[in-house]
Amino acid sequence: MLIEAMTEHECRAVLAGEHVVAHLACARNNQPYVVPLHLHLDGEYLYGYSTLGQKIEWMQANPLVCLEVDELTSEWQWASVIVFGKYEELPDTPANEESRLVAERIFQKHPMWWEPALVPLAAHEPRFPVVFRIRIASVAGRRAIADGAAHDPARVSEVKRPSGLPAVLRRLTKRRE
Ligand SMILES: Cc1cc2nc3c(=O)[nH]c(=O)nc-3n(C[C@H](O)[C@H](O)[C@H](O)COP(=O)(O)OP(=O)(O)OC[C@H]3O[C@@H](n4cnc5c(N)ncnc54)[C@H](O)[C@@H]3O)c2cc1C
Repeated sequence: MLIEAMTEHECRAVLAGEHVVAHLACARNNQPYVVPLHLHLDGEYLYGYSTLGQKIEWMQANPLVCLEVDELTSEWQWASVIVFGKYEELPDTPANEESRLVAERIFQKHPMWWEPALVPLAAHEPRFPVVFRIRIASVAGRRAIADGAAHDPARVSEVKRPSGLPAVLRRLTKRRE
């Protein structure tokens, strides 16, 4: 198996996929919290929709986030993209009109993103919708490609198949001693 560093263009293609589910990590008081959710790439931002809850409250307190998106084709063929970014809330104010129009255009294409969020968990429980975006600060990607597939040697490192699991475990145990 070969592991290849992805270009920014390739990373963006993964982020722009039709059914992207991101693992979004935020942190408060040194406690990380990761949730799966839908995000959609538009320019330098990933747009999302949520109701008020733990992740939104934590990102309001600390807007620095990290997220991961992956494509798993098989054990030997996958891509993983990691983004560092900053949470920006888009309340319904004149200053956010343009950005909310971008979000609206995205959400119209994906009703399944926001319809479940509006279903009350308990009778009469109010749900407050939140439109937000993550401003991308940096992006990096790696992918595994099958042996023999076309690749750029400058971007690739080869993962040599170990001789067997027992040998790998012995090596790991030795290292710890
Ligand atoms: C494929 C997929 C796509 C999703 N897309 C969206 C989306 O676009 N927008 C959106 O708002 N939400 C989406 N969700 C749901 C999302 O993962 C959260 O469950 C939800 O947003 C509530 O998060 P919260 O931080 O507000 O949790 P709260 O309702 O505040 O609950 C907090 C506690 O509930 C538990 N909890 C919350 N979420 C999860 C979870 N997913 N799994 C296990 N335990 C959990 C944790 O213990 C957490 O501490 C999606 C989930 C999946 C699986």
